[in-house]
Amino acid sequence: MALYVHKYGGTSMGSVERIKNVARRVAKWHTAGHQVIVVPSAMSGETNRLLGLAREICDQPSPRELDMLASTGEQASVALLAIALQDLGIDARSYTGWQVPVRTDNAYTKARIESIEDTRVRQDLNAGKVVIITGFQGIDADNNITTLGRGGSDTSAVAVASAFGAAECLIYTDVDGVYTTDPRVVPEARRLNVVSFEEMLEMASLGSKVLQIRAVEFAGRYRLPVRVLSSLTDPLGPLPDEMRAGTLITFEEDEKMETPTVSGIAFSRDEAKLTLLAVPDKPGIASTILGPIADANIDVDVIVQNQSVAGTTDFSFTVQRTEFQRAFEVLQNEVAPAIGAKEVISDDKVCKVSIVGIGMRSHVGIAATMFRTLADEGINIQMISTSEIKTSVIIQDKYMELAVRALHKAFGLDQPQPVAE
Ligand code: ADP
Ligand code: ASP
Ligand code: MG
Repeated sequence: MALYVHKYGGTSMGSVERIKNVARRVAKWHTAGHQVIVVPSAMSGETNRLLGLAREICDQPSPRELDMLASTGEQASVALLAIALQDLGIDARSYTGWQVPVRTDNAYTKARIESIEDTRVRQDLNAGKVVIITGFQGIDADNNITTLGRGGSDTSAVAVASAFGAAECLIYTDVDGVYTTDPRVVPEARRLNVVSFEEMLEMASLGSKVLQIRAVEFAGRYRLPVRVLSSLTDPLGPLPDEMRAGTLITFEEDEKMETPTVSGIAFSRDEAKLTLLAVPDKPGIASTILGPIADANIDVDVIVQNQSVAGTTDFSFTVQRTEFQRAFEVLQNEVAPAIGAKEVISDDKVCKVSIVGIGMRSHVGIAATMFRTLADEGINIQMISTSEIKTSVIIQDKYMELAVRALHKAFGLDQPQPVAE
């Protein structure tokens, strides 16, 4: 008998009936003799609703108050789940992030977990209780409530699982595993029985929202097994089947497994491109441009600096669309005057499409196939970025779905996997 952490996303917690089903499923694990900590999200739509209310009041609400507000969604869902479990006769107790406490830094709206206190929860587990801890939130050193960024309950769950030494973290969601790409965009996408940690890390960082990137990073740091599976199956179905269901993120590369060159396609609509024109081409320029962007706590993604012509060059980079306006203002007001750049131009109608696969390490010509496939569809590539196991392109966002479908087909991802898993 072991300790398991279950995470249930917004759709899985989306109605009273679904919460009752979550309770039935958790009760099944508990009754089988396992210790269970549950980390639920807010009910679907609730976080958007709350943040929308704030934005009806003003354009730029204070991040501290946004966290105070958004954290209430999870507070409601943990209590409802505890009530549903108690109604089934299970001894359950819910906690918010500050009651545990889950300690974070003070970067409101995108805080990082620093530590999780285990005394209180451990006592409950030892007393046979199911413990339910809010996803998405924590508390900073000054006792302010913080949240971990959208989709952050995944990270809460994996962090809790690491802190308590769980046997596995089960991420229950509205799909039955990790697919070759988002099945909402490509219906022919295939579920992967296993995905390597490195591939999952790339896919999450490149926009596959099935898992938040920090959750995958945590899993990697502690080599914690994570499984993605459906919450929409019969909650009373056989436990041994459920323990093997979905997609397992593995840390071992199976020697016997012939890895496909490309395992998945990720995409993100959430991109915006900024370009500084006619920047003097001299040492220190990249840091002069990106230093103030980093100081403003804005993450930079793809960066391209062109060959200089007559001593000047153009410098482009992408940021998340939500941070676009702030990044533009930093460039316009601070950076461009300081370095004497001619102009700042921007495009917030771009997206990023990426192919990912550990097999890319040992195969040449994969990027060329990607570029040819996009060219055949008449799609212009604006920026390219590569690593050992991925190639990403920035393209106009209206071509995103076309690009994803074409690449999915070109790399044979709709075909059955060539290896036994
Ligand atoms: P939850 O509310 O449970 O956290 P999310 O909506 O955050 O669920 O994540 C699940 C969704 O992720 C799926 O409904 C699917 O549309 C999307 N998704 C994106 N890429 C993938 C992928 N490669 N495999 C599976 N799902 C994906
Ligand atoms: N409720 C939060 C969100 O909607 C966190 C989560 O669901 O993971 O982003
Ligand atoms: Mg999610």
